Amino acid sequence: MKHLLSERLSSIKPSPSSSANARVGQLRAQGHDIVNLTIGEPDFDTPEHIKQAAVAAMNAGDTHYTPTPGTVQLREAIVEKLQRDNGLTYGVDEIVVGCGGKHVVFHALAATLNPGDEVIIPAPYWVSYPDLVVLHGAQPVIVTGEPHNGLKISAEQLASSITPRTKWVILNSPNNPTGSVYSESELLALARVLEDYPQVLVMADEIYEHFVFGEARHTSIVKVAPQLKARTLIVNGASKGYAMTGWRIGFGAGPAELIQAIVKLLTQTTSCPSSVSQAAAVAAFTGDQAPVAAMSAAYAQRCKVIVEELTDIPGLGFDVPQGAFYVYADVSGAIGKITPQGQRVARDSDLVEHLAEVGGVATVTGAAFGLSPYLRISFAGDEQSIREGCRRIRRTLSALQENDGQQL
Ligand code: PLP
Repeated sequence: MKHLLSERLSSIKPSPSSSANARVGQLRAQGHDIVNLTIGEPDFDTPEHIKQAAVAAMNAGDTHYTPTPGTVQLREAIVEKLQRDNGLTYGVDEIVVGCGGKHVVFHALAATLNPGDEVIIPAPYWVSYPDLVVLHGAQPVIVTGEPHNGLKISAEQLASSITPRTKWVILNSPNNPTGSVYSESELLALARVLEDYPQVLVMADEIYEHFVFGEARHTSIVKVAPQLKARTLIVNGASKGYAMTGWRIGFGAGPAELIQAIVKLLTQTTSCPSSVSQAAAVAAFTGDQAPVAAMSAAYAQRCKVIVEELTDIPGLGFDVPQGAFYVYADVSGAIGKITPQGQRVARDSDLVEHLAEVGGVATVTGAAFGLSPYLRISFAGDEQSIREGCRRIRRTLSALQENDGQQL
């Protein structure tokens, strides 16, 4: 069969977060007791009023194809949400609904990229961006963020990465995997650079916007720099903020011409997202927002818990996350050490494997996000699992021994 598959397919890898989760399943099937800290989704149930809206839609016979860009009601709901939450004014023709944020990213890249185009992706990055760029024949240009500033990229770094071939810059704030949030002044500095390159499109992935902690505030780059609105695609959705990952509703907000291009492609791929999920998303975006605030408060509490549990673990350092639900921990202090089983930890993937097999806790390797040696440790799960998982990390890292120079 292998020889029948496309060359394009062999240029990408399966999503590492899905693989990490699958590895947990495998180890559990083999009888291992594993705490899963790889999770990239809310552990809350979808709020009741949202589920009821789906039931009502089914009962009302809303079970047919909808317009490809999404129902008018949902696009109006998204327009309302952008005004309320982000202070941004969009028209219905500037909105497209997809089957999740990932689907919108895929179609936006497919609708715009030509072979040889470059896409600037700050690292660490969400695992899917580089592969989706490669899939469409373009070149990811990886720019590693500054370690002293939450691994965010600076205006200078952005300026020196843009070439005549740059088609997109992808910005993700709050960030998966670092939990960093770009401040208004940082966004403004990036926007000032972009003003000089009118041919460059901006993708602003704001899927974690509702989960910001402490002093951090989420602001859209379009709000800070309205002059970029005509070439920015905001990507967002219901998955994280409303605990609706399985409903598969994401959206893009951007210039009408770009939206039409994405819609053209969607007419040939999915036709439309699920009609029932769209009805549910109308209730999510326009209904009671109290559950979002409650979930956000719960993540803020879990963030406190994980910070407390991970502090002073030998070989592990981290910045306190400002948003999303991940800690991106620097494990350079553990690299080169020896496990009690006599194995050398040469890279972060060795540590992830050792933590899972011997320590009983699953995390994701920094290599998946384009910056090693790090671990992504999720605090999307319940408090008890977070505490137990972190204790296992502490125990396992504390048991590593210095390499006294012996050859293994
Ligand atoms: N963007 C980022 C940064 C993400 O972490 C995810 C999911 O993990 C997505 C987009 C896509 O979310 P979905 O396709 O579930 O809407």
